[in-house]
Amino acid sequence: MPLTTHYESLYIGGSWVKPKGGEAYTVINPATEEAVGEVPVGTAADADAAIAAAREAFDHGPWPRMDWRERAVILQQFHDVLVARKDEIVQLCVAEAGSIIPVASIMQFDMALDGLQYYIDQIQRREFVIPSSVSAHTNWATGGETLGSTVKVYEPLGVSVGITAYNYPFFLNLAKLGPALASGCTFILKPAPQTPLEAMILGEIASEVGIPPGVFSIVTGGVDVGEKLTTDPRVDQISFTGSDKVGAIIQAQAAPSLKRVALELGGKSAMIVCEDADLEQAAFAGVVNFTNQCGQGCILQTRQLVHNSIKDQYIEMLKAMASQVKMGDPADPDTGMGPLISAAQRERVLAYIEQGKSDGNSLVYGGSIPPGLNRGFFVEPTIFDCPSNSTAIAQEEIFGPVVCVIGFDTEDEAIAIANDSQYGLSGGVFSQDPGRAYRIAMQMRTGGVLINGGGGRLNPSVPFGGYKRSGIGREYGEEGLNEYLEIKVIDFRAA
Ligand code: NAD
Repeated sequence: MPLTTHYESLYIGGSWVKPKGGEAYTVINPATEEAVGEVPVGTAADADAAIAAAREAFDHGPWPRMDWRERAVILQQFHDVLVARKDEIVQLCVAEAGSIIPVASIMQFDMALDGLQYYIDQIQRREFVIPSSVSAHTNWATGGETLGSTVKVYEPLGVSVGITAYNYPFFLNLAKLGPALASGCTFILKPAPQTPLEAMILGEIASEVGIPPGVFSIVTGGVDVGEKLTTDPRVDQISFTGSDKVGAIIQAQAAPSLKRVALELGGKSAMIVCEDADLEQAAFAGVVNFTNQCGQGCILQTRQLVHNSIKDQYIEMLKAMASQVKMGDPADPDTGMGPLISAAQRERVLAYIEQGKSDGNSLVYGGSIPPGLNRGFFVEPTIFDCPSNSTAIAQEEIFGPVVCVIGFDTEDEAIAIANDSQYGLSGGVFSQDPGRAYRIAMQMRTGGVLINGGGGRLNPSVPFGGYKRSGIGREYGEEGLNEYLEIKVIDFRAA
């Protein structure tokens, strides 16, 4: 089946329906500024229809009542169709989100599919009814000896809404669809306005594999759609990935109807490079940490804290490696760094670079639109040597290819600088002493720490999420599935 990039309808309640509004959004390839496709812009009325369908499917439909194993069979088909269509989906991630081919193929696609497979396996293996001990005791209500027991039952939470960001859209959409559908919730996806196509393809596959009507809907659009989905009392749970600013708004919007809210938010993560680090390994990871997805990654370690005895050498290595990163169209397999998502994001990043300079940081590499790349939303890999951790470029999430290198003299100082952040998503330590690296990792106030670059791939069986303004709740692992489940306890008289 050829890849669709022009849609006139939205996938709502199990059918492709004409949206209530008349607007269309042209998806732009951020590397070429050419049109990639077109989708209708959803409205609050479309969100209302998706909520009604999801509520009906949850309250009266087969999906939440199905045996876990039956759901797993359907989701496995969903997974397998995605795998069969990998090449076209990867091309879409390249054209729509500006991901270079390895990022599209591994980070966006393979890791998303690993996660979906994890949830499918988890619901088949997990014992959802766990008997607790059977005991005889005096019955408080009726007196006399009673033999009783209790079971703990996991049930799907209800109508779930996933709202996602633009940076790794295919991955983020599946990170919400997987646990929502595996748990038996019904699910509405609102993708980022800039990247709707990586969501729409999921609707095609849902209808192909026979996910029942209303179980999964997609509503494109912006704030009005997001507001409707997060305020409507028929929705039970929100899983949001995006900025801390919008996360806080969503938490407030969801509060009056007391929805459960999981928030995966921004970061300004620190990578600590000790004087005993393998410097080449650290600098290589250092460059990847501000050039991956053109710096538009929540977990990227864009504050690099380097022992003062090796800082100059580290910066020289970063500069040399950054100069080898080929910028350009990510469809070219030789490209190492693609564009930012939009002209607006490029303006924002360039404004931060100007502010970085005027706040007294020294720009040691990059800082401009690359010569010859005026078409597409490119910015050079940019390295600042920062005298302190307190200026805007060290404290705020820039979401562009900009790194702050900050010196330190002692381990305690490095940890204090790392923790001097409103965020707490990720962290890194480079040291050839594993005990030391672990000791430092234990003191970092973040949801995850990579030692010497870590294993290099998301492990879906462990939870992912942030401390402080980086979020509430977790994705992946048992904890990720629990975000979509209620726990019921049934106490019964055995004899
Ligand atoms: P954003 O917060 O601007 O938008 C995210 C989504 O929220 C979009 O779909 C948007 O339409 C929607 N939205 C905006 N206002 C809303 C409202 N009032 N009600 C409901 N929905 C609303 O984020 P972005 O610019 O798309 O993405 C970048 C941000 O995402 C960065 O901060 C990045 O760190 C974060 N992010 C976090 C993770 C993570 O797992 N922690 C992963 C990827 C991205």
